[in-house]
Amino acid sequence: MEMVAYIKATRGPGFTRVMKPVPEDLKDNEVLIKVLAASICGTDVHIYEWNQWSQNRIKPPLTVGHELAGKVIKVGKDVKNVKLGDIVSAETHIVCGTCEWCQRGEYHLCENTQIIGVDTDGCFAEYVRLPSQNLIVNNPKTDPKYLSIQEPMGNAVHTMMHFPIKDKTVAVVGCGPIGLIGVNIAKVLGAKKIIAIEVNDYRIEKAKALGAHVVINPMKEDVIERVLQETNRKGVDVVAEFSGKKSAIEAAFKYVKKGGKMSMLGIGNGNLEINFSDDIVFKGISIYGVVGREMFRSWEQTRMLLDSGKMNLDQIVTHVYPMDQMEEAMAMMISGRSGKIVLIP
Ligand SMILES: [Zn+2]
Ligand SMILES: [Zn+2]
Repeated sequence: MEMVAYIKATRGPGFTRVMKPVPEDLKDNEVLIKVLAASICGTDVHIYEWNQWSQNRIKPPLTVGHELAGKVIKVGKDVKNVKLGDIVSAETHIVCGTCEWCQRGEYHLCENTQIIGVDTDGCFAEYVRLPSQNLIVNNPKTDPKYLSIQEPMGNAVHTMMHFPIKDKTVAVVGCGPIGLIGVNIAKVLGAKKIIAIEVNDYRIEKAKALGAHVVINPMKEDVIERVLQETNRKGVDVVAEFSGKKSAIEAAFKYVKKGGKMSMLGIGNGNLEINFSDDIVFKGISIYGVVGREMFRSWEQTRMLLDSGKMNLDQIVTHVYPMDQMEEAMAMMISGRSGKIVLIP
């Protein structure tokens, strides 16, 4: 049997639509999944555009995509945690289970991590073969288009929930799709004041719709001064950093409160200039680096948020395309005028 798949065929920009065999030959721990919905990640855009990171990391040919919801249609003989007909999603980090970090239960820090759709064939296809230990059985009542975004939502959950934010003032720095989910999580979890920081007008409006009390555009205002005005000149309790932008991160060290917390997900290039003594040591702040999702605590927290019915999912998933309109979907993603975009095979 053959299927449609979108692959990185050669070392250059773009994806190629191909017919290839359905990966039915399962190892004992593997599961064959019929993809119901797959969402586009920033990582997919990097691979599509063939940026420096992908040139160093990706070895074509590779089926791309890693955020999905799908139905289990075949299981290997040792598989116990999922059964035929289950609607599943996947943690995208395939970990070794034996390194120092895995043995300590810090699977998200595994030193031998392989990533679905980056190192192994992914889900921009009609079917995908995945190791069972990476699968999460979903609530079948939830629409697959929302189930497919749990992996990036798990990043937002990990960032927003590492430090308590209920009744706290929170700055969400960078409101791309994951930052926007972060804004919404802060609202659902009862943050006292949510200050979103973003330059893109579309995303500014989205941040307001998803629960930001204040949105600051650093192109138009002095961010540090405005955050201090909004917080009785004390600064914010928690910074959730999604931008990876040097100037934005440096500013955050100036407006985080004494004893404040910083949860850092955005990835930037190069070094920061910060006043180590004044802005870290004497402020007594805590800084946490967010790597992927905690396995599998972030998934449980994500599910809890989805099941609460309080997330504004219809504002978070802004576009749904048939997978055959891959080019249009990627162009929309690159335009910056979207939240999460979902593809339906
Ligand atoms: Zn992703
Ligand atoms: Zn490991």
